[in-house]
Amino acid sequence: MTNTKQSKERKDIEIGDVWEARKRISAIVNKTPLIQSNILSEKIGRPVYLKLENVHEVGAFKIRGAANKILSLSEEEKRRGVVTYSTGNHGMAVAFVAKKLGIDAVVCISNRVPKAKVDSLKRLGAQIVIVGDSQDAAGEYCFELEREKGLTVIQPFDDPHVIAGQGTIGLELLEDLPNLTDVIVPLSGGGLLSGICLALKSNDRAIRVTGVSMEQSAVMYESLNVGKPVELEESETLADSLLGGIGLDNQYTFKMVQQYMDDVVLIPEEEIAYSMAYMIDKHRIVMEGAAATGIAAVLGNKIPHQEGDVAVIISGNNVDISTLLQLIQKYTLEKKG
Ligand SMILES: *Cc1c(COP(=O)(O)O)cnc(C)c1O
Repeated sequence: MTNTKQSKERKDIEIGDVWEARKRISAIVNKTPLIQSNILSEKIGRPVYLKLENVHEVGAFKIRGAANKILSLSEEEKRRGVVTYSTGNHGMAVAFVAKKLGIDAVVCISNRVPKAKVDSLKRLGAQIVIVGDSQDAAGEYCFELEREKGLTVIQPFDDPHVIAGQGTIGLELLEDLPNLTDVIVPLSGGGLLSGICLALKSNDRAIRVTGVSMEQSAVMYESLNVGKPVELEESETLADSLLGGIGLDNQYTFKMVQQYMDDVVLIPEEEIAYSMAYMIDKHRIVMEGAAATGIAAVLGNKIPHQEGDVAVIISGNNVDISTLLQLIQKYTLEKKG
């Protein structure tokens, strides 16, 4: 990840920031449904609930953090516009929120980004700048636009407003599930997990939070093992939204995950694939690979603790239809003969 400016003093994020986020984003972000999964509950002998972050219009929870960050900008900053370089769910969320608020958004991408992604970003009204042939080159250009045009960079996870925005999921869980004991959270840069932990643990220290990542290129997992942020080579995975570094100069999420997360589970590729097909087959719910890691943890009985209500964060649904069709064919249709 590209270096960002380090001059700002680091301020701890507090539960009050999450409550403020909730109020701030309420005009743009709806509370999401929580449903009990009878089939999963029976399977593991304890109540399993699904927190449906796949139902947001952009298909992922990232709209919460993006909305909280962009709505917190000064009028002057809003007038100058925002910039980001994520091509995934965060980039889409930034484009969506900016369009809704009438703020200019630039998304810097490399010429490797597939046309389908470019098209959906364009549909969301973002201005696309194609630079270089790597994500790093696009990232550098993004910070150049910050310096030269005064655009505000909207970070995908390592930002207090983004973390507080994602934390609003935790507040909703507390309202809906008084007996909650375990929460399963897909983990990449850790904005989602940090925010949820902050909201839950400020209220009830006994609630346990388990992070889930894919087996290969799990950067936060490896960084925790080493005791500081590390970089890893990216590999091919269905959980593409969990790829990417945590930033060698990580300011917030590394420490928060280190402090708050109770357990972490890694999921093999095969189980991610199976879980995506399983949820279509049994629940008619479309999940992308990142979200399926949580379901795989349930199906594989990998939740570290054995009793109480479990909530799984179904973090997003942005997966190619062709990928989904292949998985359905492989795991469900063939069994029915
Ligand atoms: C970004 C993302 C995650 C991981 O969130 P972090 O804050 O980076 O840990 C999980 N699932 C989906 C679908 C995502 O887009």
